[in-house]
Amino acid sequence: MPIRPLPDTLINQIAAGEVVERPASVVKELVENALDAGARRVDIDLEEGGIRLIRIRDDGCGIPAEELPLAVSRHATSKIASLEDLEAVATLGFRGEALPSIASVSRFLIASRRREDEHGAALQVDGGRVGEVVPRAHAPGTTVEVRDLFYNVPARRKFLRAERTELGHIEEWLRSLALARPDVELRVSHNGRPARRYRPGEADAAARLGQTLGEDFARNALRIDHAGAGLRLHGWIAQPHYSRASADQQYLYVNGRAVRDRNVAHAVRLAYQDVLYHGRQPAYVLFLELEPQRVDVNVHPAKHEVRFRDARLVHDFVFRTLQEALADTRAGATPVAAA
Ligand code: ADP
Ligand code: MG
Repeated sequence: MPIRPLPDTLINQIAAGEVVERPASVVKELVENALDAGARRVDIDLEEGGIRLIRIRDDGCGIPAEELPLAVSRHATSKIASLEDLEAVATLGFRGEALPSIASVSRFLIASRRREDEHGAALQVDGGRVGEVVPRAHAPGTTVEVRDLFYNVPARRKFLRAERTELGHIEEWLRSLALARPDVELRVSHNGRPARRYRPGEADAAARLGQTLGEDFARNALRIDHAGAGLRLHGWIAQPHYSRASADQQYLYVNGRAVRDRNVAHAVRLAYQDVLYHGRQPAYVLFLELEPQRVDVNVHPAKHEVRFRDARLVHDFVFRTLQEALADTRAGATPVAAA
């Protein structure tokens, strides 16, 4: 075959292979967009575990009608404009590829209105074929509808699991987002019935902790908040007697972004080493904050990983902070619920 440029839709479908694994990844990208838009409330309606329908409605800043085609085109973003912006990125998104990727493998609709605009508008994309912008009544904010995920990519559709399983993955992502943003209200419905509601509690992150991971975790957690060397680590770690058989309650956020990081996970494990029985897993919700220039978030399209400029420093800081907090438990410190 001669060398030819790939058609746009195929480029987007290839990108979708990295960004859109299953309904939960769509929910993640869309809710992150809502949060980047400053939403205070996000409604998430699902049908059949998100396979049939994912509808995310937010009350964020909205998109002007003339920019809707850009929102669904590749490498178009309102979040960064230069390499300096990328190096200091404070939003969850910045790659400008979630919407075009999702829209290339589903029946997609975006409708939006800015508060200052009189009329809203909508744009439909069907398996990557972009329609015309049409007027559409809409409250200030944005709605994105994703129907029949992978309907045009049978090889991917085959890998979707049962409704329950897909719903479970979505719930897990939402838990992780809910923990990071106690100030935002999240409402979830599944197959027309209310399924989950995270109430906003700006002043009370501990209440969100209880709503999300259960009162038992909250009662047995120690509040952490320590700063030094330009780093801040805050959140909760479970006392050693509240350990788990699996790593199912381990949440790490770097500058508000949920990530997996072997380096930090290792530091946590090391801190717990002497106080946990062999094979037991610690439970924690930890927020690490540092200057954005000291961490590279552009490591993977799905942004699950970051790279620290100084991994050693981060490791030692996390280890020391937790080791000290855990040493206090042995001396009989008070758990959060009682504090
Ligand atoms: P990214 O988030 O990386 O910029 P996306 O493809 O997710 O890329 O979104 C493209 C653009 O569409 C965003 O930069 C933003 O300007 C706009 N957008 C997407 N979703 C929303 C939303 N819910 N509210 C306001 N603007 C949005
Ligand atoms: Mg995005």
